[in-house]
Amino acid sequence: MGDSAIGVVGGGIVGASVAYHLSERTDDPVIVYERGDLVSATTFRATAMIGVAGPDPYHRMKEYGFRLYNDFFADPEAEPRYRQSGRLRVSTTERGARELETLASVASDRSGTEPPRSASAAKYANSPVDYVPGGKLRDRFVLPPLRTELVEGALYRPQYGYVQDDSRTLGPRELAMEFVERARANGADFETNTAVTDIAVEGDAVRRIELDGGETVPVGSVVCAAGPWNAEVAALAGLDLPVEHVPSPVFALKLADPLPYSLPMIKSHDSSVGIHPKRDDTVLVTYTPGEDEREGRLDPSAVGDTAPDEYRTTAIRWAERLLPVLEDAELVDEWVGVGTNTPDGKPIAGWTGVDGLVLAATRAGIQYAPAVGDIVARQLVDGDPTEYYDAVSVSRFDGYEDGRTTDSAE
Ligand SMILES: Cc1cc2nc3c(=O)[nH]c(=O)nc-3n(C[C@H](O)[C@H](O)[C@H](O)COP(=O)(O)OP(=O)(O)OC[C@H]3O[C@@H](n4cnc5c(N)ncnc54)[C@H](O)[C@@H]3O)c2cc1C
Repeated sequence: MGDSAIGVVGGGIVGASVAYHLSERTDDPVIVYERGDLVSATTFRATAMIGVAGPDPYHRMKEYGFRLYNDFFADPEAEPRYRQSGRLRVSTTERGARELETLASVASDRSGTEPPRSASAAKYANSPVDYVPGGKLRDRFVLPPLRTELVEGALYRPQYGYVQDDSRTLGPRELAMEFVERARANGADFETNTAVTDIAVEGDAVRRIELDGGETVPVGSVVCAAGPWNAEVAALAGLDLPVEHVPSPVFALKLADPLPYSLPMIKSHDSSVGIHPKRDDTVLVTYTPGEDEREGRLDPSAVGDTAPDEYRTTAIRWAERLLPVLEDAELVDEWVGVGTNTPDGKPIAGWTGVDGLVLAATRAGIQYAPAVGDIVARQLVDGDPTEYYDAVSVSRFDGYEDGRTTDSAE
């Protein structure tokens, strides 16, 4: 260990991807410090849909992820699974149906002359979408359990699917372990049950990290890949990150009889409820708190694994209303993951104003982790800002600088 060592804080999918990409580019020591078990926090709790939609250049970041995941699935070291499902956003109101129809027409405008007019339309850019009137759903899909008579209109996105595994949460743990196994094979180390408790900065540069137990390790760089804990880790080096938190509950419903067909992911446009048929016998129901229900910055460690009663009631009521087969299902598990939100909802990756302190903070991390890892590795090892620099640098937010802005100021 020494000044060239790179310490990565956090052993979720983002930290594992950072370690993998670093280990592909450098022989310098790369050590991931994870205070619990690997892939046991947000990544473990994710429903883990992946799809390439979105505005430039973020959809290209997601495409990079798809290409890498194709390689992983072609020759897996762990046991990841993928299920192509498509995604159906349904509305039971006429107004909602009109909104979905408008979104589809804006997103389908391939003329290139008109950028998406709103953030919601931008989400649908660069990916096929199809508006389907409620009365046509049964003409086009096998959807026996969906109460199509309630649906006024729907938006279908075919290029969507789930990453899954056999763990309790049917999540993307094994996909994250692909990064871990490949990074290990390249020489990266993963130290579990080891928390980073301090980051020493001297003369504006990161010098050492301190571990619980009191050990001090000299490092040249530290990558914050601590998911919802990134704000507190960056604060150890004196940086206040512009992030907020969204606690997102998941309810696991076991069907009385497995479905003999697969269903798309169904999102209610009229509520914040998502229905994820993760397995033929298990449906995960999610509830995403709206803007007015969010509390901004939280202590992620204080968020328990039981959702507020009103979230559970709303989620299950909507799910049963749309899919009555769920009325006979048993609620077998529930958990809460803490999402990370940046001011523009996009990843923050790369250099900061503190020399050697590097960020890898993102929502939708199953989709963005590959590209974030690649960007961090290219900046740290090659000094290459990458084509994504303006889109992901923390310096795009007022009051923040990074390696480039600090250099040019000198
Ligand atoms: C319900 C839910 C559904 C989701 N669905 C999707 C989806 O469909 N598609 C998608 O792309 N994304 C989805 N996400 C988001 C995705 O799960 C996250 O963006 C991603 O898992 C974040 O990964 P991470 O590695 O940054 O964080 P984490 O997985 O939380 O890993 C961070 C790690 O850092 C460790 N750590 C923290 N502090 C320290 C310290 N001081 N020292 C050492 N270790 C530390 C923690 O123990 C933790 O293991 C979902 C999230 C939730 C909650």
